[in-house]
Amino acid sequence: MTTTDPPASSPWRKVRIALLLVVLAGAGLKYLQVRRAERWVPDWRATQQVLLVLLAPASATPDEQAELERLTRFARLGDDKATLSALEHWFEVELGRYVDRPGFKPVQLRVTGPHAYSGAPPPPPRVGEGLSFRDRYRRTRDFLGWYEERLKDVPGRFPNIVFVTFYGADAAHVFRGVHSVASRRERRGFVFAPLTDQGRDAALINVAHELLHLFGATDKYEGERCAYPQGWVEPFKEPRLPQRFAEVMAQGIPVADGRAEASLDLFEAMRVGVETAREIGWIDEARRDRYYAGDVSAGPRLD
Ligand SMILES: [Zn+2]
Repeated sequence: MTTTDPPASSPWRKVRIALLLVVLAGAGLKYLQVRRAERWVPDWRATQQVLLVLLAPASATPDEQAELERLTRFARLGDDKATLSALEHWFEVELGRYVDRPGFKPVQLRVTGPHAYSGAPPPPPRVGEGLSFRDRYRRTRDFLGWYEERLKDVPGRFPNIVFVTFYGADAAHVFRGVHSVASRRERRGFVFAPLTDQGRDAALINVAHELLHLFGATDKYEGERCAYPQGWVEPFKEPRLPQRFAEVMAQGIPVADGRAEASLDLFEAMRVGVETAREIGWIDEARRDRYYAGDVSAGPRLD
């Protein structure tokens, strides 16, 4: 004990201990909240409500302006094949491959935008950048803050939000290295896509991928390869290669031994694999284990 310490029985010491306990309880509570948020899995008895915030650059060329028009139709559920209503339907079909819930809509997408933005969002921190804890924290805070700012004009509160940031050719160099990311804790997904025709398909595929991260799914690729068997839609197919579909969390179609996976360009080729279905709570562990033990009847009904 140092000389400045008050006697053990003094009221001051009791106050200090009480304060310390309050601080500790607060930290403990925060820790539990974070743990809970990171383990959250949707309750599929209800439709999951998702807000999609479409962002487009304020400075767009006439060509990009035309793409913006198409983007607006894309958002407003136009007659194109790759639309947000098609993505909603995709969730319905994928759930139906595992369980019988006729007429049930697992995911409902509400769309706002496209909202114009100037400048570029601060880049999110990336794995492998070697950032210190403090820099990582600061970069994450700035990145999330920029997007929270975009929500100011959006009425209503949504439990799940995915931002789709479209960018023009003049900003391609800024966005090239920026990958779509998700924060399960914040229940926010961030998708980046070029303002082109292919960009809309890429956006759709990445919205599905990031949304499934929010619902608890993990990535299923190892470097450039799809992890076997979890990153394959039909790991027990005979012959095994070529595969027909891409697992949504692996995003590649294994075609031949020793060859790179075909990239997932069309969202029609995207399926929810068995491990992803277990992670997001569509099936239980026992069924997952049965499947990977070789019982294909426990897997999805593919056509
Ligand atoms: Zn991912």
